[in-house]
Amino acid sequence: MKKFRHRTLLGACAILLSVAFTAGVCLYALAQTAAASPRMTIVIDAGHGGIDGGVVGRQTGVKESDLNLALSRTLQARFEEAGFLVVQTRPTEAGLYGAATQGYKRRDMQRRAEIIRESAPAAVISVHQNFFSLSSRRGAQVFFREGNERSRTLACAIQTALNAMPECVHPADALRGDYYVLNCSDYASVIVECGFLSNAADEALLVTEAYRARLADTICAGTLAYLAAASSGEGAFG
Ligand SMILES: [Zn+2]
Repeated sequence: MKKFRHRTLLGACAILLSVAFTAGVCLYALAQTAAASPRMTIVIDAGHGGIDGGVVGRQTGVKESDLNLALSRTLQARFEEAGFLVVQTRPTEAGLYGAATQGYKRRDMQRRAEIIRESAPAAVISVHQNFFSLSSRRGAQVFFREGNERSRTLACAIQTALNAMPECVHPADALRGDYYVLNCSDYASVIVECGFLSNAADEALLVTEAYRARLADTICAGTLAYLAAASSGEGAFG
């Protein structure tokens, strides 16, 4: 049963992506049309920050918070080029918790939730890097909120786009995740774990601006595919 549902989901993704890629350049025009009057807002959430650096690269010591911010800024440029308003929850290296005292993590997450709710976004993209004890594990992984179809469909579109990158060794399915940033609103929210800082090959890619630029292109393309399909009323987007 689970396998069947997976296949159904993969089929839906394939259709979604084929629609998007067949549309080619028109996709951007379509998204721009959808974004016009009033312009749609995309919230980009660079994970961690301040005293919370997130995970650390095994090879270079790079901090996840720095990679998240760098990628989020490139993503902002891509979405703005496509005509969207972009709100960054964490536009600088600083965390969102105020004073670095007890409870800072909770305050940081609550501030992110406030920004998301105030922005009424068409999509929320939370940017993170992964880490696992087994160093062979690698690749991008997208998470969605269980029970939220928009979240799942957006995650699927982005995951499928990421799976099509030439650097993708093991295509993955989007996974449900019980995370605060997904649960704090009903907007179409996903977490994109871009790669594993515990894997040397992933880390070598992620520290380069060129790879992050291509990641941003890919995440943006997946999001635009989702928005284009949603605006044309295809699928169960609600
Ligand atoms: Zn993280």
